[in-house]
Amino acid sequence: PLGFRPAPKALLLEIKRLRKHFAHGDAPAVERVSLDLGEGEMLALLGPSGCGKTTTLRMIGGFETPDEGTISLHGEDITSLPPEARGIGFVFQDYALFPHLSVLDNVKFGLRKLPRAKAVARAQEMLALVGLSGLDARKPHELSGGQQQRVALARTLAVAPPLVLMDEPFSNLDAAMRVETRQEVRKLLKAAGSAAILVTHDQEEAMAVADRIAVMESGRVVQIGTPDEIYRNPVSAFVASFLGRSNILTGTASGMQVQTEFGNLPLSRAANGAVSLSVRPEQIMLEPDPDGTASVVGREFRGHDQLFWVQEGERCMLVISGAGASIEVGSKVRLRICDCVVPLA
Ligand code: ATP
Repeated sequence: PLGFRPAPKALLLEIKRLRKHFAHGDAPAVERVSLDLGEGEMLALLGPSGCGKTTTLRMIGGFETPDEGTISLHGEDITSLPPEARGIGFVFQDYALFPHLSVLDNVKFGLRKLPRAKAVARAQEMLALVGLSGLDARKPHELSGGQQQRVALARTLAVAPPLVLMDEPFSNLDAAMRVETRQEVRKLLKAAGSAAILVTHDQEEAMAVADRIAVMESGRVVQIGTPDEIYRNPVSAFVASFLGRSNILTGTASGMQVQTEFGNLPLSRAANGAVSLSVRPEQIMLEPDPDGTASVVGREFRGHDQLFWVQEGERCMLVISGAGASIEVGSKVRLRICDCVVPLA
């Protein structure tokens, strides 16, 4: 049931049981996090504020020392190396551009080993790729936040490091720019063969750019997989609701079937006994029915589809229907679950 799996890539980064407990923290910020990353692979660390994403990233970068655990890059233990000795690229939220250097010189900074003409050409190529041609001579303070962010990206990608760490790199871009830039960055990384770890709390961004997503909750990685795997088979109510929207039901499972208040339904994987279940809003059909036991209590038109909130007894269910369905708030309906439901841990 776990779908397509790309061919395994050579292992680039291996993190084993990383732990960090800050002096004044109640609970560890990061607790036994283990992750593998293949060469050229793009991984998103996804989770709500405070779940330990940034601390994990900072330990990989060498800006924070783990209490326990190891980090290896290309098979070499780098756990206690300083950041500059790790050969890793960074793009952080505050970009850290050199304020006194021009845009071109900022991007050229990591290319000092190249002959000057080559470095300039490479820097200009990177600036063109991030859509900033013509701004070479400006200083960082003469740019918008979004433009500074793109200079920081260009500077990091110019040296094509084997691994790039990115902490919310698109946070200062407007919505349209963000969608475009993240696809460009993905293309740039893939073209350069660089792997990347992206910290984000935005599930749509994680699904759009990452090959795999590690979902974090309270310092732990609770699920890791491709966006499809995690969306189709979330392991818990937390993951189901964090990646997409979900209705959580209960039922009594027996093998590949489960008895619920919506009747006997097929399960996506075998389970037995009392279970919680995830049902995606698009897996529910809404049928107008004057004798129906459910009623529509809310509607949101989204252009390509519509969200409906439907009260069925004590429970409010979220349903997504096509844009064409003409169902008014207040009307009686019948709900039908038309797909496998997912048993949760
Ligand atoms: P956000 O999305 O808000 O940046 P995050 O998932 O990146 O959140 P972290 O920044 O890793 O989370 O923080 C994890 C926990 O560790 C939080 O409870 C935070 O308050 C705590 N923490 C982070 N840095 C420090 C520090 N230097 N000293 C003490 N506690 C810290």
